[in-house]
Amino acid sequence: MTIITDEQAAKLRGANIAVPHVNETCIGCSACVAISGDVFELNDEGKSEVVSLENYDGKDVDDAIAACPVDAISWRD
Ligand code: SF4
Repeated sequence: MTIITDEQAAKLRGANIAVPHVNETCIGCSACVAISGDVFELNDEGKSEVVSLENYDGKDVDDAIAACPVDAISWRD
């Protein structure tokens, strides 16, 4: 899977497609990966990042947001 670039995310948001975002407070617990493995993966530093997809509907992102212990995930549209 490929991590989404800022440019790709901006393009999707420009098309009114909501894209999740993980901020720097991620502690790498991997809960989001367990819940929504199509959307999140851990990078080489053990931090979660968002995978490049055409859209994020129906991918359990809201459940991942709710499960994140440090509120690192949000929707940005
Ligand atoms: S659930 Fe939150 S803290 Fe855990 S890996 Fe995902 S973004 Fe990071």
